[in-house]
Amino acid sequence: MSIKIALAGNPNSGKTTMFNNLTGSSQYVGNWPGVTVEKKEGKLKGHKDVIIQDLPGIYSLSPYTLEEVVSRNYLINEKPDCIINIVDGTNIERNLYLTTQLMEIGVPVVMAVNMIDMVRKNGDIIDIKKLREAIGCEVIETSALKGIGSKEVAEKAIQLAKMKAVSSPGHTFSKAVESALSEIEDNIKNNLNGLNSRWFAIKLFERDEKIEEQITLPDDIKERIENVIDECERKFDDDSESIITDERYSYISKVVKQAVHKKNRSKLTVSDRIDKIVTNRILALPIFAVVMFLVYYLSISTIGAWMTDWVNDVLFTDIVPNAVEGFLTAIGTAHWLNSLILDGIVAGVGAVLGFVPQMMVLFLCLALLEDCGYMARIAFIMDRLFRKFGLSGKSFIPILVGTGCGVPGIMASRTIENELDRRMTIMVTTFIPCGAKLPIIALIAGALFPGSTWVAPSAYFLGIAAIIVSGIILKKTRVFAGDPAPFVMELPVYHVPGAKGVLIHTWERSKAFVKKAGTVILLATIGVWLLSSFSWTFKMVDIEQSILASIGNVIAPLFAPLGWGDWKAAVASITGLIAKENVVGTFGILYGFAEVAEDGAQVWGSLQAAFTPLSAYTFLIFNLLCAPCFAAIGAVRNEMASAKWTWATIGYQTIFAYIIALIVYQLGSLFAGRGFGIGTVVAIALVCVLIYLLFRKPVKVNNKVSDSKKQEAVV
Ligand code: GDP
Ligand code: MG
Repeated sequence: MSIKIALAGNPNSGKTTMFNNLTGSSQYVGNWPGVTVEKKEGKLKGHKDVIIQDLPGIYSLSPYTLEEVVSRNYLINEKPDCIINIVDGTNIERNLYLTTQLMEIGVPVVMAVNMIDMVRKNGDIIDIKKLREAIGCEVIETSALKGIGSKEVAEKAIQLAKMKAVSSPGHTFSKAVESALSEIEDNIKNNLNGLNSRWFAIKLFERDEKIEEQITLPDDIKERIENVIDECERKFDDDSESIITDERYSYISKVVKQAVHKKNRSKLTVSDRIDKIVTNRILALPIFAVVMFLVYYLSISTIGAWMTDWVNDVLFTDIVPNAVEGFLTAIGTAHWLNSLILDGIVAGVGAVLGFVPQMMVLFLCLALLEDCGYMARIAFIMDRLFRKFGLSGKSFIPILVGTGCGVPGIMASRTIENELDRRMTIMVTTFIPCGAKLPIIALIAGALFPGSTWVAPSAYFLGIAAIIVSGIILKKTRVFAGDPAPFVMELPVYHVPGAKGVLIHTWERSKAFVKKAGTVILLATIGVWLLSSFSWTFKMVDIEQSILASIGNVIAPLFAPLGWGDWKAAVASITGLIAKENVVGTFGILYGFAEVAEDGAQVWGSLQAAFTPLSAYTFLIFNLLCAPCFAAIGAVRNEMASAKWTWATIGYQTIFAYIIALIVYQLGSLFAGRGFGIGTVVAIALVCVLIYLLFRKPVKVNNKVSDSKKQEAVV
């Protein structure tokens, strides 16, 4: 029989790092709360029959957020054989709150006091023996990052699981509460099928709504329980939930006083000092802008570009096509097969793969920023900015995750309790350029703005601007009106990024990208080649007579007001729905067509002929902001759990992208002295509408909105 062990603990306490240690897998570890929103399962290294479960981080077992629900349901309903409670040793007082609750579930608990390396570095001492006695469970010091203690923890957990040695909580409540609890226990015992009566009694005492769905009690028992609680509440002159919470806290502070000895720190820590500058009210945003500028500059314009240039200009222009062509000629393949392989696959997939080096540099930079702790500050800085507009900075975590890929970004919205804020966040998350949009940015920047340093970073800031503008506009509508959710995020201490973690992270993301090139992109490329090589009568024809051209010509006029009425560009944008890299792959085929065999894929040259810098930029704007790829749309559908909301999201994004691209193109043309036309009038009208939507008074749902605004003004 297999043993199930669950990892539970506060967000950012190191659960996933421990999980990776124990199972040898490489799940996403991010230095901010809210990374793991789904539970993940893995087998303990060297033990086929031991299953380890990584749970989302939680502060308590009260089901307020979706992560709390996921974790709690697992712990209560699926009853693991043992819980490993990961505790952040540098922040033990707050972490122990969850521990007190875990101890009540009625499952053996092993506590791992993690980050012990940091504790020691800070000069603090945690008395493990005292802690063990006071809490009532096994306690082991660990450093998941350095791999210290993980094995011991796992061994202990297996041992306890086999013995089924249920931990008995070291804490008790005051006499009055205890007697109320045992009375509730007596009353519900008959209605619990082997469920832990103690835990249910506590939850009923706290009037936990979710618990009332789990057990059905006869009315008379319900009434009796209600009386017991009422009596207790009168005695304490407080509500039952607060009574329990207070008693937990006083117990914890007693334990901490006995077992934890913190070194006196009067001076500011290094982390605090860095934060004084980095999160400074005036400097924070400029610093953030410089940091992101550097990230994009490094990955797209310099280091990444040098490598990509070689891959594009040499590898996929000369070496690979020549080799493949030589091979194909040698074995004497049919003309169409030749074309499929060279004009289709090599040109399309090759164009995408060419961006792997740039992507890797980008992912590396982002991983470094994440792991050192800077990204967590961004959410904090953005919260300050967002709050001015009635938005919550919580929305920024999904967006930060979305810089890698929109799918986990959208999923990360689960950390947001307020349902409407969550939906709004999902609607704007994919505005941030994900990894797959990087090739589009790099291609446009390289082909039409050679030597410029601003184009690539501007794509990132455009994304952020779109998010902020959308946030303001949406929040002012009746649908989303309301108070911003409070945002309390703990800032993790800065630390030197672990080389292993960062490299694994970069590698995993790049690998996923290459894998996509070999699957989805490959198929799409073949599709595009087919449609661009054959006519409706299935004859191989020139590209201008192809099926794709005829379809493209129908939709192209739609994009003419944006400056790129060329059917190839229109088609490329549409194929971007399958995966954003396809935009580049499609260009590779459509513009590189027929030339590959002769003088190499002159995609850049063809693009320079097809676009002006202005129209190329509006092409970039549209493709960055419009509906995301199908995978991300699927994630939106999942998280919204509603077709209506999904369509609203796609529609909003696409219309927004269209409007912004149109404004930029039309006004840009005007300033470039290309005259005044109907397009200019439309653009000016749209600007006025946008300004109105941005600055009009928010719809009031209650007085609280204006109150919080007033408070903001005072602050
Ligand atoms: P989770 O949210 O609980 O899953 O936490 P993660 O596993 O994602 O880790 C959060 C951060 O803490 C990451 O930056 C880790 O590198 C770091 N971390 C995890 N364990 C340790 C440890 O033992 N010592 C130190 N110094 N850092 C750690
Ligand atoms: Mg995690």
